[in-house]
Amino acid sequence: MAEQPNPRIEIISTGTEILQGLYPDTNAQWLSRQLAALGLTVAGHAAVGDSLEDLARLLDGVSRRCDLVIISGGLGPTVDDVNRYAIARTYGCELVEDDAAVQQIRDRFARRGLPFVESNRVQALVPRGARVLYNEWGTAPGFILEDCEGRATLIALPGPPRELQPMFDRWVRPWLLERYKPDTQLATLTLHTMDLPESQINAAIADLFHADPDVYVGLLAAGGKVDIRLTARGRDGMTIERKLGDFRRRIETRIGAESIYGCDDATLESVVADLLRTHNLHIAVAESCTGGMIASRLTNVAGASSFLLEGFVTYSNESKTARLGVDPDLIAQHGAVSRPVARAMAEGVLRVSGADLGLAVTGIAGPTGGTPEKPVGLVFVGLAWGNDSTVIERRFLGNRNENRAYSTNVALDLVRRYLLHRGGKSQDCQSG
Ligand code: ATP
Ligand code: MG
Repeated sequence: MAEQPNPRIEIISTGTEILQGLYPDTNAQWLSRQLAALGLTVAGHAAVGDSLEDLARLLDGVSRRCDLVIISGGLGPTVDDVNRYAIARTYGCELVEDDAAVQQIRDRFARRGLPFVESNRVQALVPRGARVLYNEWGTAPGFILEDCEGRATLIALPGPPRELQPMFDRWVRPWLLERYKPDTQLATLTLHTMDLPESQINAAIADLFHADPDVYVGLLAAGGKVDIRLTARGRDGMTIERKLGDFRRRIETRIGAESIYGCDDATLESVVADLLRTHNLHIAVAESCTGGMIASRLTNVAGASSFLLEGFVTYSNESKTARLGVDPDLIAQHGAVSRPVARAMAEGVLRVSGADLGLAVTGIAGPTGGTPEKPVGLVFVGLAWGNDSTVIERRFLGNRNENRAYSTNVALDLVRRYLLHRGGKSQDCQSG
């Protein structure tokens, strides 16, 4: 059946735990992004508990005013999984067992060496005439219910994201493309920046916000980092990529390419890891106020042993002296949170570890421990290499955890910038 290109689409997420705030509704978010990328606009999100009555009532209204409704969750075998019954009631259709789905569920149990439990058969119940979306990633199949008099086409998918997402990729996206043949596409490019205030970025790129009606520019600040999010709309992928690349270059010129540490899925630690590997260098860290956060971030990267030698949490003055050889007189003279001690810690960890780079942080995370000269949020980050070293000072205004996270970001960014100047090149993104 030929369809209008701009269907009204709504998403319903089911689960009492969502309404209780126990987990966030990431399915609606993820599905919306996928639909947007296809040029399809989502008109509404709703969440409802595991109640047949509530879902049936909600669905009754939604299915009358929409062209397409996508429902996630509630397809499992337990008593709280009521979606198939609510859908059957609202759409006035019968549920029938799909033989292939029963077989798939049996096979799944057999592969796991478990006896097949009869109650699992309910998961193979689908509305008569529906197209079954087989589930290779879990047990319950989904389905597409079309051509229902006066009601929206309905897509039901299981709730667990690790099932819903591949099922969308396998079954739903191709179906949407075929059905709606959207004539525009969307693509996004996120540029991650470090160490530039949001207001400064905003001022530098102010005119770009309205430079092209097909390119949306947004700023998102968190943890001392600001993301510049570009969303471009166009008829084809090439045009969109060209626009994104063009905007990216203009932004780089305005704020400096070096301030952009990466794009999309890149993280500070992944970028630092790549640079360390490129240069074949090893790093060791000595942390005071961050208490191991830097080492933890670096070990987010798989295979971190190829660039991270070791990390010390030298929280007390004694530890700074015993582990890193920091002169106790230096601490007595300048205090543990000071430029000379940050430098001595970085040089110390470089020496004791035998790494190529020594990174150190000392600061006052708060909420206690500040003085007028050394307020809460004062942080020194030291980096040592060869016979050289550098120290930077920052004053953060966050709470304890924020200050620790900011310090970690600044420390990782110091390493990144050092490695860039050592001869690397800025991180390449797809759109260029
Ligand atoms: P199952 O067979 O696992 O029970 P189901 O289709 O019945 O699958 P639900 O019981 O509704 O799905 O949810 C199962 C789990 O999937 C939830 O406990 C939650 O972890 C996750 N989940 C469900 N809906 C969402 C959602 N909207 N966003 C994020 N996670 C979700
Ligand atoms: Mg369930």
